[in-house]
Amino acid sequence: EALPADPNFENSRRQVMQGYYSFVSPKETAAPQLLHVSDEMLNALGISEEEAESKEFLEVFTGNAVLPDTHPYAMLYGGHQFGHWAGQLGDGRAINLFEIDNDNKHWALQLKGAGETPYSRSADGLAVLRSSIREYLMSEAMHHLGIPTTRALSLALTGDSVLRDVMYDGNPAYEKGAVVCRVAPSFLRFGNYQIFTSRNDIAGLQKLVIFTIENYFPELDASSKENYLKFFAEVSERTLEMIIHWQRVGFVHGVMNTDNMSILGLTIDYGPYGWLEGFEWGWTPNTTDRQHKRYRYGNQPNIGLWNLYQLANALYPLVEEADGFEEILDRYKEDYAKRSFQMMADKLGLEAPEESDLQLIADLEECLQATETDMTIFFRKLADFKKDASVDGLTLISEAFYTTEEISEKIQNQWKQWFQAYSTRLQQDQQSDEARKKAMNATNPKYVLRNYMAQLAIDAADKGDYSLIDELYQLLKKPYDDQPEYEKWYAKRPEWARDKVGCSM
Ligand code: AMP
Ligand code: MG
Ligand code: MG
Repeated sequence: EALPADPNFENSRRQVMQGYYSFVSPKETAAPQLLHVSDEMLNALGISEEEAESKEFLEVFTGNAVLPDTHPYAMLYGGHQFGHWAGQLGDGRAINLFEIDNDNKHWALQLKGAGETPYSRSADGLAVLRSSIREYLMSEAMHHLGIPTTRALSLALTGDSVLRDVMYDGNPAYEKGAVVCRVAPSFLRFGNYQIFTSRNDIAGLQKLVIFTIENYFPELDASSKENYLKFFAEVSERTLEMIIHWQRVGFVHGVMNTDNMSILGLTIDYGPYGWLEGFEWGWTPNTTDRQHKRYRYGNQPNIGLWNLYQLANALYPLVEEADGFEEILDRYKEDYAKRSFQMMADKLGLEAPEESDLQLIADLEECLQATETDMTIFFRKLADFKKDASVDGLTLISEAFYTTEEISEKIQNQWKQWFQAYSTRLQQDQQSDEARKKAMNATNPKYVLRNYMAQLAIDAADKGDYSLIDELYQLLKKPYDDQPEYEKWYAKRPEWARDKVGCSM
């Protein structure tokens, strides 16, 4: 037992001052119905298909039954939201059920949308079908893209109605309630550490850090203070790695508050996330962040660093060695420059990157923004370029442009110059066109969960047709492979879906 229990077994909303978690009971639902179960996750957890079809599975993973000898609880955490300390947050609509060890891996399972907890503040603790489909499909898709993420085991309807005021026409309306079972080795966030320091409970903070190191960073010795810095360095590296992956595929998280930053460097909290369609540094899917665009695509690496500063502040009382933290944070900046360069070189299929390639990359990024250019389609098409320029580059990639109008001569020339430089550059590398294509296609996904795709699955599911959820789930298991049967999903966003973004509420 690492944490003191909340002595009050009650679910009322309140400031929880004594403990750092609270026992809670999931809410009973009217007519639970499983819509999808991840076969991959079943396998990882050692649950058979047969068990997954049982009544018990349905009841447990919709919150209608609690397994014997388990004690569901909600965690307290704090966090910086949009740059400001928000005080007590916590699992407002997540309830931890139990943990499973399988295949030498440790998994925690939690329900999202199973009713209120002491941390629900003014909200209802529930989730709607729309946001649950988005979280379910996206967390599994991210895993298959090779990006560290929380996972999802199941998606279910509750049979209850949930009132939301964020429907597309802006009017409050009842929507179908849903529950997702999320899975991760741990759901600890930066905010779990911050809340201790904010309450000046340094002994509690130390307990949590020791617990974290012993369970999730076993290569470090939790009894040595020096290792607290190493722990922070490891969190910093994992955070950077995760964000470099996001930049690689064009994923924009949308709400990088410190309560949404996993201590294990996992992508967590699939809310208003989105995908770059037209490549654009300034793009954000979060409509509540359209003014400052704090969490825009191009700012994600900076925000990762900003969040790590907040974690450093939280851990500082344990180490009291500012230089140690500063060094690690400086390393993040250096590593970011190196790794983001390597990532872009990989996307371009450069075999032996050199410093002068920075210009090639910067010029490309300008071209990509000069006309609205679909990032995913562009990089897949680019893999078919030939180093002898026997294929016309601009013709090859023009399918990635959103505009149907003729592109100005100036921009055409910009592109032509870039392809010339790219051809010259590729000729310096030893690898064949064929080998480069293979390497590029392993780093540039062909299929991503574009917002409109999730929306089509949501609209169909709302009418009782769940087949598209499964189709997208299957498609996104192999995002880098050519899947001729799914060719229709290798397409630009249709015009009707322009400016439509998902919503997390
Ligand atoms: P988010 O912006 O999704 O990271 O949520 C911020 C905080 O609000 C977290 O503490 C959530 O648990 C809480 N929260 C979000 N949605 C709900 C909801 N429907 N009911 C209760 N709490 C919620
Ligand atoms: Mg959150
Ligand atoms: Mg959320």
